[in-house]
Amino acid sequence: MGGGTAGWMTAAALSNKFKALGFDLTLIESDQIGTVGVGEATLPHIRYFNQALGIDEPEFMKLTEATFKLGIEFRNWGKVGDHYIHPFGDYGLPADDLDFHQLWLKQHQNGGAGRLSDYSYPIIAAEQGRFRLPGENPNEIGSNFGYAYQFDAGLYAKFLRRYSEHRGVKRIEGRIVDTTLDAETGDIECVKLDDGQTVDADLFIDCSGFRGLLIEKTLKTGYDDWSEWLPCNRAVAVPCESRGPLLPYTRATARTAGWQWRIPLQHRTGNGHVYWSDHISDDEATHQLMSSLEGPALAEPKQLFFKTGRRKKFWNRNVVSIGLSAGFLEPLESTSIHLIQEGITTLIELFPHRSINTLDVEEYNERMGLNFERVRDFLLLHYVATQREDSSMWRHFRDLKLPDSLQEKIDAWMHRGYVIKYEFGVFLPPSWVAVMLGQNLQPRGHDPRIDRFDMRELRQKLDTIRDETALQASRTPMQADFLKQHGGASSTPLATATQT
Ligand SMILES: Cc1cc2nc3c(=O)[nH]c(=O)nc-3n(C[C@H](O)[C@H](O)[C@H](O)COP(=O)(O)OP(=O)(O)OC[C@H]3O[C@@H](n4cnc5c(N)ncnc54)[C@H](O)[C@@H]3O)c2cc1C
Repeated sequence: MGGGTAGWMTAAALSNKFKALGFDLTLIESDQIGTVGVGEATLPHIRYFNQALGIDEPEFMKLTEATFKLGIEFRNWGKVGDHYIHPFGDYGLPADDLDFHQLWLKQHQNGGAGRLSDYSYPIIAAEQGRFRLPGENPNEIGSNFGYAYQFDAGLYAKFLRRYSEHRGVKRIEGRIVDTTLDAETGDIECVKLDDGQTVDADLFIDCSGFRGLLIEKTLKTGYDDWSEWLPCNRAVAVPCESRGPLLPYTRATARTAGWQWRIPLQHRTGNGHVYWSDHISDDEATHQLMSSLEGPALAEPKQLFFKTGRRKKFWNRNVVSIGLSAGFLEPLESTSIHLIQEGITTLIELFPHRSINTLDVEEYNERMGLNFERVRDFLLLHYVATQREDSSMWRHFRDLKLPDSLQEKIDAWMHRGYVIKYEFGVFLPPSWVAVMLGQNLQPRGHDPRIDRFDMRELRQKLDTIRDETALQASRTPMQADFLKQHGGASSTPLATATQT
């Protein structure tokens, strides 16, 4: 149900995994309703999704006008004027059993170690507009990082549609207007389209977007509203012509009542302003966005409305919700497409054999619940690890009661720079370190095991890593040049984008 990013990612993955088993897969989408039309920035995990489908990276880059992404730059989050990049990868190199940030922390607490960012290859390369694939040797600077993509979501859906139809997925164009429930079980028996056609199935995957057509409108599953923590509830989005070098990162600039994204693609730049409507009018939010575009707008600004939170059950009866129908968390860390991927891979692992097993459903709901909660905590961290008090929105976060899970994470960090780890949840400790230090949460202590290094030895280690990082970054090609060999779309004048 639905042919947005969620629908076609699901169709592609299921056709790849299950077609040989003789399953019939049908995707219904309505051209008249269309898709949400945003969702261009991703996390590194999407590479594994594409690889599992056997997708050729340069071809994918070319056909989706994609760019590479080494992280996200946050501007004005800790304080107005601050900026840092949350990189996809570890800082420095670990020393035996110790995380690198502990080395930096001790040096920092004893007279300064410069920016933590200077010990991150993906950050330095990103700041200079450079990109290459990770090196082979995991113990070398320039190898222990990941990367993601920034792509045109409409082109990605088209790309996956071709892939899926080639593997036998049947596509029906039409609007679903009604559903029939099995009188005995309460499961969905079939859906009815506006042309009178009915489609029945054993399992329905609801990728109908914010509407949640089956999971909510039909099954009334319920929604956990997380607005008390993540109150931004609207966005306005617009693409514009690109200017300047092709940067390999997404930017999120904090504003007085929300934040603004900038996503550079090969053929254009995506922009949007996510805001809390209690603190700014729609007109003012649109004005702020339109007056800060780097080039002429390529379309009219589009407004979107949402409520952050999650479906009470992601899988209910014979309906699994994937994508916006499952829940929504604002795109500050590009997590929605990742949660789609997580939903698909978990569903494949627990895919019903002949009938639906309640234990599998519970496991699915538990795992997806943890994934959503942990993303929520990570996003909220950006709003509360701040010294900003310059607007009513920022003052709101000053006294907010945090979820216990986030409060514990911050407390453990402040004590001695320790990041509590868990099995499920997309963001690993280096991501938490990036945001906590990037937004000026300086721990009071450090890991005592660091004290086995004397200060001179520590300084030397750090200097070597910083110098090697700078050297490796300086040898990295500009992204625009790299793309020419690795997926540049022919429509794009990449040559004009190489100068920094
Ligand atoms: C402002 C904003 C910015 C975002 N930015 C990012 C980002 O940078 N990175 C990221 O990972 N995610 C982002 N997202 C989320 C991302 O856009 C979505 O996760 C992704 O596009 C998937 O959407 P979807 O497929 O669930 O829904 P949609 O794109 O809305 O697709 C729904 C589909 O269901 C069909 N449909 C609906 N009703 C019917 C019906 N009655 N009959 C037949 N068909 C029907 C529609 O036609 C459509 O094909 C953003 C979201 C918003 C709101």
